[in-house]
Amino acid sequence: MTGGTVSSKLFLLILVLAIILIPWGTPKLIILVHDVSPVYYPYIENITALIEEYGFQNSTILLIIPNHAGKHPISKDERFVQLIKKLEEEGYKVGIHGYDHIGNEFLCNETIAEAKLRAAREELERAGIKYDKVFVPPRYEISTQALKVLLRNNFTVFLKGKVCYPSGDCERIKEREYTWYAGRLRAKIMLVIAKFEFTHTRGIFVLSIHPKAVNYGGGMDFLREFLKYAKEKEK
Ligand SMILES: [Zn+2]
Repeated sequence: MTGGTVSSKLFLLILVLAIILIPWGTPKLIILVHDVSPVYYPYIENITALIEEYGFQNSTILLIIPNHAGKHPISKDERFVQLIKKLEEEGYKVGIHGYDHIGNEFLCNETIAEAKLRAAREELERAGIKYDKVFVPPRYEISTQALKVLLRNNFTVFLKGKVCYPSGDCERIKEREYTWYAGRLRAKIMLVIAKFEFTHTRGIFVLSIHPKAVNYGGGMDFLREFLKYAKEKEK
């Protein structure tokens, strides 16, 4: 092997590493808090307190389950309603996350989807909670018919790896959840991966969080460090 080929291989290696490692810029961060329901009240308080510390409430959508498991209609829980109203005043947006979140409830036909969406909206209205026309189906599962119903009603629908607009156009997004019951070590490793993925995204970067799952182990430390990092990148 000649010195020439070695140095050209080295040059190629450095070039590839540079392309991989140099950040691409700062994407638009959207935080989706899933499963916002009275069942997870204390966890939601903790998560939102942290989000506010870094000023990301305007980038956060609270995905409300209007009647979790068919047993927790939000309008019957005054404490929960007051919390959500307070958060809305602070800049959080509210979206709809199914109706009862039982199974893959939006893998259904058009008639059922219409009825579920109507019931969900009525429950939010009964509670006096304002919402944006943003919808995330439980477990990201939705039938073609149900998706049509949502889009026809002017909802923007977040799915796995994409977001679909009322016009019917869908855009690819990077959606990640790093804190599914992560222990301390796992959360630390996830933070390294998350920072890398965040700075190597063009367009929209969606950080998904589940109450209780993120509050476990190293989850909240992850969230604090990630938000701090995203804040610095914004500058
Ligand atoms: Zn969910």
